[in-house]
Amino acid sequence: MEHVDTLITHAHMFTMRGDGVGYVKDGAVAVKGQRIVAVDTTGELTHRFTAEETVDATGHALLPGLIDAHVHTALAVIRGVAQDVRGWLEKAYWPFYKQITDKDVVVRSMACVLEGLKAGTTTFVDFVDPAAECAEAYVASGVRGRLVAQFNALTADEQLTGLYALDQAAGHARLAEAAAFANTWNGSEEGRITVVLGPVAPDLVLREHLVETKRVADRHGLMINMHVAQGDRETAQMLQRYGQRTVAYLDELGYLDDQLMAVHLTVATEQEAEYMARNGVSMMLCSSAIGLVDGVVPPSIAFRRAGGLVALGSDNGACTMFNEMRLTAYFNKILKADPTVMPAWEVMRMATIDGARAIGLGDQIGSLEVGKQADLITVDLSGASLGPVLGEPVRNIIPNLVYSARGTEVRMVMVAGRVLMRDGEVLTMDERSVLDDARDAAQAIADRVAANPAHRDLVLVSATKDGRL
Ligand SMILES: [Zn+2]
Repeated sequence: MEHVDTLITHAHMFTMRGDGVGYVKDGAVAVKGQRIVAVDTTGELTHRFTAEETVDATGHALLPGLIDAHVHTALAVIRGVAQDVRGWLEKAYWPFYKQITDKDVVVRSMACVLEGLKAGTTTFVDFVDPAAECAEAYVASGVRGRLVAQFNALTADEQLTGLYALDQAAGHARLAEAAAFANTWNGSEEGRITVVLGPVAPDLVLREHLVETKRVADRHGLMINMHVAQGDRETAQMLQRYGQRTVAYLDELGYLDDQLMAVHLTVATEQEAEYMARNGVSMMLCSSAIGLVDGVVPPSIAFRRAGGLVALGSDNGACTMFNEMRLTAYFNKILKADPTVMPAWEVMRMATIDGARAIGLGDQIGSLEVGKQADLITVDLSGASLGPVLGEPVRNIIPNLVYSARGTEVRMVMVAGRVLMRDGEVLTMDERSVLDDARDAAQAIADRVAANPAHRDLVLVSATKDGRL
């Protein structure tokens, strides 16, 4: 008998192999070191292996860890200050955003990572400042970080009115910092931390910054992650500065290929979405965030129809992928007035194997397969939200996970073979102090906003005074 580190047995196992969800009844997984060494039935694996630890997952679903393909963990600290308003970015968000200090970096990120981890997210594609503290926080938390080293070319006092003032030298200096960050951290922690380049959006950097970014990305084999067509505001900037819409502009720069992870596509037309998909671009769909701040459902159906890979991201909303899966399915069914659109199994794939491929990690994560990283979760199916469980003649587990799960049903989370949460208890972070620190940071930011007379008339400040918040 071969000896392994962990054996997880007796699960309703969804491997996400093949074209569907890869269900295995009474399924089991064997883990050695960072990797999955066997995936089969419990009967088969208990004959082949002895284990340091055996986890009995009776009554639980066993799935690959969920992938949050677009998140700004650092912005979770100002959650709830910019919704139900037109012009959310300039009119509500920006004053708060401008008050976030470097000192808060780790504090603010980790509360969001904690929230995601507890709800089964194992990989975070996170827009971070290219600072060592950001990567070190990921090292400590144990989750998989695909860190987007973000940079823009905005001048320090830009208020986002009129044509933005962009600073060529500052943009180049920040790109150099992002490249240095990638150099230091990409592939660290035995591959658990990877880095991609993140020009924040095409209207927030200059053409020469994008040209240089592509050169650096090619030289170092890095992907590029960028918000694309994320609103009318961006389109207006692009037309004014370059006389082109975003997608045509990026096409001309040679950006539309499988190196690009394009976030949002909020105001991309279906034709633009299809064109990008056919060229190999992948799409990060953030249904909850875009629904909330813009009231828009991005063209992911057209993107997928054209053969493109779509991943799901929580952006700066609630950091749980169960929320994203559910809203993605609902919004698109409503948009098309068609209940067959975005069935549960498809959105589950978008949060696992398709998401993994879309972010360039398809050979490492996203499914339970021999040789892949042991990133996996168990979900208790016995509670009111997910039961009663049916196996035959109709299996209802995936639909219930997508449409009914709250995320609190996740019991165990493993990343790269290491258990980060056991029986709902996070082992790598002190939950109470993470949340207390985030609360203190948020209050200090709000106090600084309140102290500035220019912000007295913010829509949501008035709504608070008027008793509507
Ligand atoms: Zn974003």
